[in-house]
Amino acid sequence: MDPTLHHAPMAALLAVFGLVAGSFLATLALRWPAGRAMSGRSQCDGCQRVLAAGDLIPLLSWTVARRRCKACGIVIDPLHPAMEAACAGWGVAAALMAPGVASLALAGFGWTLITLAVLDARHFWLPRIITVPLLLAGLAMGEAPFADRVAGAALGYATLAGLALGYRWWRGRDGIGGGDALLLSGIGAWLGWQWLPLVVLSAAAAGIGVVGTRMLMRQPVAADTHLPLGSLLAAAAMVLVVAIHLVPGG
Ligand SMILES: [Zn+2]
Repeated sequence: MDPTLHHAPMAALLAVFGLVAGSFLATLALRWPAGRAMSGRSQCDGCQRVLAAGDLIPLLSWTVARRRCKACGIVIDPLHPAMEAACAGWGVAAALMAPGVASLALAGFGWTLITLAVLDARHFWLPRIITVPLLLAGLAMGEAPFADRVAGAALGYATLAGLALGYRWWRGRDGIGGGDALLLSGIGAWLGWQWLPLVVLSAAAAGIGVVGTRMLMRQPVAADTHLPLGSLLAAAAMVLVVAIHLVPGG
């Protein structure tokens, strides 16, 4: 039997889990920074209409409704379908990359990184209530040998906390948030310290790419223009996880 077929049931399961997780996480990413309650029925952000079950099917409802609320016509935030698709896609990737229960852990790792990337991109916010559990879960069930993961957690935190201190001393203001250090610590706890230089270099390269694109498009870029470092680190970590698993014998 084709070895990829063994993964098919788990891939289907994690695709469905990913759709549901993405739907929940998009709601969380939209409501939480605005200080709105996570509990209670799902409502339209425009008219407060309580959504029926038929409005809440991930991706499908959004497609059928042509991206708008049926009642008030407000354009639904594309974050909903984007996170549903991203989490479903990552779920399938996790099932193909890791066997059995390990794929659940890997899926959860990616879904958490997607959520942090969105919160940081939109609000420059990496809440500790997410980064600390990410770190602990990485130490408990990350993929590298335990000693490498402990070293990764320590090195990840020390690198960015040290850079933040240096930047404050050099420029007299904060340039790197404490959330970034905890996030890199969590990434180190999952992947092991060996991968951290590549994570940081990839994130930096992506950041330079973003700034370069903005300059090409003649958008203003100032010396204190903020880039969401956490989003770049999260994206770099996810790309690297895929790359690690594509390497033969990896
Ligand atoms: Zn509405």
